[in-house]
Amino acid sequence: MPAPRPLIAGNWKMNGRTEDGAKLAGAVRAWAQANNPRCDLLLCPPFTLVQAVAHIVLGAPVAVGGQDCHAEAAGAYTGDIAAPMLRDAGASHVILGHSERRQYHKETDAEVAAKALAARAAGLTAIICVGETEAERVEGRAEAVVGAQLAGSVPDGATAADLVVAYEPVWAIGTGRTPTEADVAAMHAFIRARLVERFGPGEGAGMRLLYGGSVKATNAQTLLAVPEVNGALVGGASLKAEEFCAIAAAVP
Ligand code: PEP
Repeated sequence: MPAPRPLIAGNWKMNGRTEDGAKLAGAVRAWAQANNPRCDLLLCPPFTLVQAVAHIVLGAPVAVGGQDCHAEAAGAYTGDIAAPMLRDAGASHVILGHSERRQYHKETDAEVAAKALAARAAGLTAIICVGETEAERVEGRAEAVVGAQLAGSVPDGATAADLVVAYEPVWAIGTGRTPTEADVAAMHAFIRARLVERFGPGEGAGMRLLYGGSVKATNAQTLLAVPEVNGALVGGASLKAEEFCAIAAAVP
């Protein structure tokens, strides 16, 4: 089974308005069209820009994703966005269970799994985020925590086409700190083994495993060369086209 084609995904979080979002998406589109990257590219803007960004990258090798979705397909859920709405707006992916949502919105593994099922039903690929806190790592519980998140957040029946897992140590997000290559390699090997055990050697080996947490142009080459790292989920550095494209260019 060949390694999955790498994916470099940008999580814009709660940043971007019409003008700067268009500029950023337009610059990534131009770079992708000119450079024939060795990876797939994905932009995850805030909901307000999904449709506009999808329009801008149409025809270019750049996909668009949301940053969350509701577990129901429609209904009386004020302020929420359903997976079919994302699909309708031009998205093909959705980030689920990001640590900021687990922390600030108290999202549980069961809720993330329900959202992933909704994403699958709508034809979206879910990028499910897992990762330990600093205290959990110091206590030697990183694998136990990530294993439990995987078991609870990834729904049964997942396939390589509808699931991407992003390993994002909470303490590395937005801090400028990253785990050692050995720690990333060990955790990705652990996640891969769990996925193969649960989904079989075909689907489990084909699911992309992204590393996320302070990825930037200066460390991308090192992190992306770690075994079982099939790309990156990039936060802060995805807000600058030059930096985001330099990360994509660093894919081995
Ligand atoms: C993220 O929020 O998914 C992330 C990885 O952020 P940053 O790259 O800024 O650490």
